[in-house]
Amino acid sequence: MNGVAIAIGCSFLDRARLLAQAADYPPALTGLRGNYPAAVEPFEALQRGAYRQFPALDTDTHEEYDLVIVGGGISGLAAAYFWQKALGATEKILILDNHDDFGGHAKRNEFQYNGRTFIGYGGTQSIATPYPYSYTAKRLIEELGIQVERNGEFAARDAFQKLDLGPAMFFDKEHFGEDRLVAGNGRLPWPEFFAKAPLSEAARKDLIRLYGKNPDYMPGLSVEQKTAKLASISYQDYLLNFAKMRPEALPFFLGQGGRNNKRVDTTPALEAARRGSVGFNGLGLTFEEEFRESSYTFHFPDGSASIARLLVNRLIPSAMPGKQTMETIVQAPLTYARLDDPKSAVRIRLQSAAVRLEHDGAPEKSRSVRVAYVRGGKVHGVRGRHCILACYNGLIPSIVPDLPARQKEALAYPVKVPMMYNNVLIRRWTAFQKLGASTINAPGMYHTNTGLDPGTTIGGYRGVTTPEEPIIVRMVRNPNKPGMPRREQNRIGQQELLSMSFHQFEVEIRRQLGRMLGAGGFDPAADIVGITVNRWPYGYAYTYDTLGDPDVPPEERPHVIGRQRFGRITIANADAGAAAFTNQAIDEAQRAVQELFVHEGLT
Ligand SMILES: Cc1cc2nc3c(=O)[nH]c(=O)nc-3n(C[C@H](O)[C@H](O)[C@H](O)COP(=O)(O)OP(=O)(O)OC[C@H]3O[C@@H](n4cnc5c(N)ncnc54)[C@H](O)[C@@H]3O)c2cc1C
Repeated sequence: MNGVAIAIGCSFLDRARLLAQAADYPPALTGLRGNYPAAVEPFEALQRGAYRQFPALDTDTHEEYDLVIVGGGISGLAAAYFWQKALGATEKILILDNHDDFGGHAKRNEFQYNGRTFIGYGGTQSIATPYPYSYTAKRLIEELGIQVERNGEFAARDAFQKLDLGPAMFFDKEHFGEDRLVAGNGRLPWPEFFAKAPLSEAARKDLIRLYGKNPDYMPGLSVEQKTAKLASISYQDYLLNFAKMRPEALPFFLGQGGRNNKRVDTTPALEAARRGSVGFNGLGLTFEEEFRESSYTFHFPDGSASIARLLVNRLIPSAMPGKQTMETIVQAPLTYARLDDPKSAVRIRLQSAAVRLEHDGAPEKSRSVRVAYVRGGKVHGVRGRHCILACYNGLIPSIVPDLPARQKEALAYPVKVPMMYNNVLIRRWTAFQKLGASTINAPGMYHTNTGLDPGTTIGGYRGVTTPEEPIIVRMVRNPNKPGMPRREQNRIGQQELLSMSFHQFEVEIRRQLGRMLGAGGFDPAADIVGITVNRWPYGYAYTYDTLGDPDVPPEERPHVIGRQRFGRITIANADAGAAAFTNQAIDEAQRAVQELFVHEGLT
């Protein structure tokens, strides 16, 4: 039932009760989530220019706030926290968000099955230290009571080690001639692994060569010349034209790439080399050790939704009473109906898409900003003495058309990265056990990465440890269009996600799990008990690279020009940092708050 995980093992009455509860409690909703259709519907009219003139209000709420924040993600919530901390708990703050849940990318997914709750993450996975968190971001995490260094106490991943499960690759018949799952990539010696894979002799030879000790594929060039050349070509170019890999081996690399979902054709070869990708170890280049995304330090079962929930606990205690800690937050009940309580100084108004902001008078002299937002198909109005746009920066030119032309052009430059984190509850994972796999990389398939998510045992919530238990399987897709420039690929991927129905996604999920796990006895019809599709056409913030973006001084980067204060409006969100992590969402919130303080002389 639209992905509902309660069809099996529940009576009709139980089912009706659980569905009704889910409506009041968005994390329990399954089916099409993430940037779900109703949430992004107002963006169409917005981008068409329907609100170029400030719209007539259907309802003037006559509400006035010290601060109106657009966007209830980590950045918007952190901005409210910093503001309140500096100016006091009586400051009136309104946070508007177009979704039915707060947190932005940091979203929680829940499934109920056979009387047990399974918690997963719909977006942000982890607090990814040792990535360089700023003092501000570290301090906020500490103030929320999260001790990242305690991660080892809670992680449930040793369940896989005990069963000797590890990475596997699925070779599909469309790209490799037959469907075959081969476990052991990265664990077996590579010649042994490739011997088991359905590859032509020539492709196998090439891959064994690349995964071994390489000769210098750029002879005659100095280190500086090599570095410059690698920065100007893609990893794919390097493999084909310098390492002379045969094109028939390329499908093996289709699911691999650089940071922020860049692929083999959009990853600069220099970035691939820095990440330790194969083919470069004979070039004589040395790099400083880089942050690796997988080296996360702290993971809640709902990912960073727990950060968002802790922020809400501090901002609106009536919605989640008692001072919650890192151990209690996962199970702490939250009353969504109290998020927008007139008695609370801070209010979060969900399902409310801001469509137009306008100063009362000239921006530098005005005393307030009018804000129009769409809720339930009607235009509502509020006023803020200050405003922070912690929403997608690419939409800001449509929301504030009075911005200077250069700023609007800069804000429109980046294209957010389309992504999908799909969560599938299965009734047991014995098929994974039989196949020896805990994660599967499938370079040619719809979802390139699939993995078991055992959760975290923390504060009374129990992660999954045995293959007979139900578990969440997380399937990742990054839609793209190889061969095009990266921003164009992002645009096409975004359209793909926006145009597909839940049913179409469900078919892809069932078909792929059936093909990859069939040999282990997996039966999609019997084994899948719930599906939540988290589609993020507006995913990661755009980041620059040496292939797709002009090499300009840092202060001339589009995100810097785009995030300038405009009268009483400042701009936050990870987009404003051109970096796609939680810490930047926090840093940009702090900057946006500071800019208003400095402008107004408030502190
Ligand atoms: C699938 C996925 C996995 C990730 N994993 C990690 C990870 O493991 N670690 C990590 O550090 N980072 C991760 N990130 C990145 C991280 O989640 C983001 O950088 C961070 O959460 C961004 O927060 P934000 O508040 O800036 O933006 P968002 O989370 O996008 O929040 C902005 C909010 O504003 C709302 N909004 C937009 N327009 C309007 C409007 N007109 N009116 C009202 N509201 C509006 C949006 O709907 C959204 O709710 C991940 C991101 C994704 C998508």
